[in-house]
Amino acid sequence: MKRKKLIIILIISMILVLSAGTRWLIVSRHTLQFWHLPLSGRVIVVDAGHGGPDGGAVGGDTVEKALNLAIARNLRDYLQESGALVVMTRDSDEDLADEDYTGRHKTQDLLRRADLIEKAHPDAVISVHMNAIPSTRWHGAQTFFYPKSVENERFARLIQDAIRKTLNNTDRYAKPIGHVYILKKASPPAALVEVGFLSNPDERSMLVKESYQKKVAAAISVGILRYFTSEKAPSN
Ligand SMILES: [Zn+2]
Repeated sequence: MKRKKLIIILIISMILVLSAGTRWLIVSRHTLQFWHLPLSGRVIVVDAGHGGPDGGAVGGDTVEKALNLAIARNLRDYLQESGALVVMTRDSDEDLADEDYTGRHKTQDLLRRADLIEKAHPDAVISVHMNAIPSTRWHGAQTFFYPKSVENERFARLIQDAIRKTLNNTDRYAKPIGHVYILKKASPPAALVEVGFLSNPDERSMLVKESYQKKVAAAISVGILRYFTSEKAPSN
């Protein structure tokens, strides 16, 4: 009688231990899947430059704002696929200033972008822009950063390096810049990518293409990924 009881207790204990073990295995497998994505737990702000009444740079009949947004949306998709939580400063053809705001429209827009970035508590900020200058000669992308920390520079250099290797359209390096408000205000590593020159007809014809916009976004996302997998900055 005593032995039977002991066996029953043993069996019950084994079942309990086994079921607890299985539960632990399930939990850890889920956790593992979740954390396996390289950008899991990271918040990244993607800022498409300009919008609404502020078209940005112009080349031919192409205006910067719509192309910035197209690249920003692709970038959001790539970053989300890597597990990041992405916050867009805009996801339509609008800037952040009030429509009827009669003061300095652009200033209100930039202040609100900076405010949105601060409230999102991001791990990184990336702003997408395009260039246009009177000469048609210049082409290629360049990444800018506010020179306040080593991490800021490493972030920008890894993005520029990924662009150089993927798009093969430039041999420029990431460059410090002092007067870009949202770069200056952002606490986490932040970079602004001037994706290309709308003033260069060849580059413009590429920038309007969906396939090229995806390629640009993929290049930027590779740079961001390399930053968060703790790669060292490439030497200039
Ligand atoms: Zn711009």
